[in-house]
Amino acid sequence: AAEPTAALRARAEIDLGALRANVRALRARAKGAAVMAVVKSDAYGHGAVPCARAALAAGATWLGTATAEEALALRAAGLSGRLLCWLWVPGGPWREAVEADIDVSLSGMWALREVTAAARAAGRPARVQLKADTGLGRNGCQPGADWAELVGEALRAEAEGLVRITGLWSHFACADEPGHPSIAAQLTRFREMVAYAEERGVRPEVRHIANSPATLTLPESHFDLVRTGIAMYGVSPSPELGTPADFGLRPVMTLSASLALVKHAPGGHGVSYGHHYVTPGETTLGLVPVGYADGIPRHASGTGPVLVGGKWRTVAGRVAMDQFVVDLGGDEPPVGTDAVLFGPGDRGEPTAEDWAQACGTIAYEIVTRIGTRVPRVHV
Ligand code: PLP
Repeated sequence: AAEPTAALRARAEIDLGALRANVRALRARAKGAAVMAVVKSDAYGHGAVPCARAALAAGATWLGTATAEEALALRAAGLSGRLLCWLWVPGGPWREAVEADIDVSLSGMWALREVTAAARAAGRPARVQLKADTGLGRNGCQPGADWAELVGEALRAEAEGLVRITGLWSHFACADEPGHPSIAAQLTRFREMVAYAEERGVRPEVRHIANSPATLTLPESHFDLVRTGIAMYGVSPSPELGTPADFGLRPVMTLSASLALVKHAPGGHGVSYGHHYVTPGETTLGLVPVGYADGIPRHASGTGPVLVGGKWRTVAGRVAMDQFVVDLGGDEPPVGTDAVLFGPGDRGEPTAEDWAQACGTIAYEIVTRIGTRVPRVHV
């Protein structure tokens, strides 16, 4: 059970029970495909190690990170099992990754060369997954001659015992836009690029392309494994797809702060830097002691919703580095009252999606950017 946390300036409560339930819901949706829990960027701000443990306990069988450092940190925390990191950078800790049995994603020949050198140094094969650019236009190997070269050279390295090709994979550009023509085009290209590699002798353990939106809405994209990030944290990939509840998901993070000051102010009182808010009449002002250094977007100035004393209030004036103000409209909730920025929404509080809308961004950014100064309280 949660300890009383009112003494904390701010806290991000992380409901690991909700995360486990979300993983079970995603497993059911993925049918026979394995579930990879994407825990990059400190599990989208939720705390990588406890979230990884909870996801595995609920039946996820893979972990995924962006950087090798993130993957190594999971190993250092004692997490064994299958683990893929996909952001290859030159000079990364590839030997350590090979030694720690981390699958490494390769998008081109530079990466293959560096990983085979790391495998030689480590004295064991590198586990590699070849990433195809099927249309995202970001990371991944281009189809055609580049893919042919990468597949051919990776097979040669496999024959020499320097790599084991464990996966063939890709990533969607527009899976969160149902019916977008690029979805079908990417699936076709993925099948072609996989078929090319398999015809030449690649025997992958897993083929995968689905992220959360694809896991939720495109069963034909599930292949052997789905990589779920945002859905596992109970956040909808996009408002067009629906709410978390539409998919049986529950938001995992609740962000709140303790009201640090309540004071009377006359009408015509400028509030916060630049005086972008001026009290329309006599009122009370509440100080919420979190700011943009804690990851509260400055774009929330004048728009961000906060539940205080049972009512939605709005950030009054600019978000500052460490604090912002809400107009309490004459109410006088006691200092220490919870100001809930976002949570599951079923206690009347705003959701991360509400904040995303208020700030003109996506809910991924809202949860991921919550800063390290805000303690995570895992319950
Ligand atoms: N796979 C890759 C390569 C990613 O970069 C990400 C995150 O951006 C994911 C999967 C998970 O995406 P989502 O959070 O939409 O499930």
